[in-house]
Amino acid sequence: MKKEKNSWNISFNTFIHPLVFAGIFYSIAVWRYLATGRVFYIYNFGTIGTSLAIGLFFAAALPKKHSLWGRRIAQFLVGSYMLFFVGVFKHENMQFEGFIFYLIMGVFAGSTLHYFIAKIAGPLFFGRGWCAWACWTAMILDLLPWKKPANGRIRYFGLVRYAHFLLSTGLVLYAWFALKIQPENLKTSMELYWFAGGNLLYYITGIILAAVLKDNRAFCKYICPIPVLQKIGTPFSILKMRIDTETCIECGLCEQNCPMGIRLMEYKNTKSRVMSSECITCTTCHDVCPENAVDYTYGFDFSFKNHLYYADKPLKNNKNRDA
Ligand code: SF4
Ligand code: SF4
Ligand code: SF4
Repeated sequence: MKKEKNSWNISFNTFIHPLVFAGIFYSIAVWRYLATGRVFYIYNFGTIGTSLAIGLFFAAALPKKHSLWGRRIAQFLVGSYMLFFVGVFKHENMQFEGFIFYLIMGVFAGSTLHYFIAKIAGPLFFGRGWCAWACWTAMILDLLPWKKPANGRIRYFGLVRYAHFLLSTGLVLYAWFALKIQPENLKTSMELYWFAGGNLLYYITGIILAAVLKDNRAFCKYICPIPVLQKIGTPFSILKMRIDTETCIECGLCEQNCPMGIRLMEYKNTKSRVMSSECITCTTCHDVCPENAVDYTYGFDFSFKNHLYYADKPLKNNKNRDA
């Protein structure tokens, strides 16, 4: 959607995304309520759907230079709800280890449903949108001052996330099978401590890493185990960014500001959508583009090509870089 830089953008299109996402989440709410009779599903998915709709509305309606706040609103509304209400108040361990525990138990809990929607099946439709619009870890990391990464990615450092994934899975299997930690109902104090401790560790690591590498999203690029799941479906995502080759003036601002270090010009040159499974659909590239040449689009395609900006291979067009 073409946007005005300094004035509000209210039209029919402004309401499409909020209504679609609210509709999806309210449908899930009704489906789960009818299947289980639990009112929890109504207010849980209703809250998430409404929060996303509010954020998406402001992202579309605000003047382009402020549209980032739409995403921030959604991130804080969904992230805080999941962190404080579902995690702390309802004692549901939404950390990756909690999900593995529920899987072993064969329990279709809120955590399992959350992982299925946000991190396993969801990426087939909205890629890694969870990471930009809802994650409670990133809602804090995004407040740090290093929004525009100072440098490209560190090659091979991203393998740490796979090691983390295996370690966490192994830890739960060990606890379950060797130590016989098999609580009948996982919504116990132990789960709360695990959830709180795990999150605290994520925040501390994420903040230190961001400060050292001058990159708010360093934790997401290298340490977090969640993308291991998300990256399976993301290449097939229906929603992806696209660069209009006719209007793009190759100023390079989009890839210089991309928090995930994606070489958008490589995708432009091959006339393909941004296929990288590292894209979190944050729309920063759209917000900074002076020509309105990059936008989200819907379609069916897939590719496993990840064109990424590494520190040892600078961007071709670096003339506007001021970081
Ligand atoms: S990579 Fe992990 S920490 Fe970063 S936004 Fe995604 S889920 Fe959150
Ligand atoms: S910011 Fe816009 S005009 Fe500049 S290179 Fe990116 S897509 Fe092209
Ligand atoms: S390509 Fe655009 S939408 Fe994707 S992560 Fe980079 S800035 Fe965000």
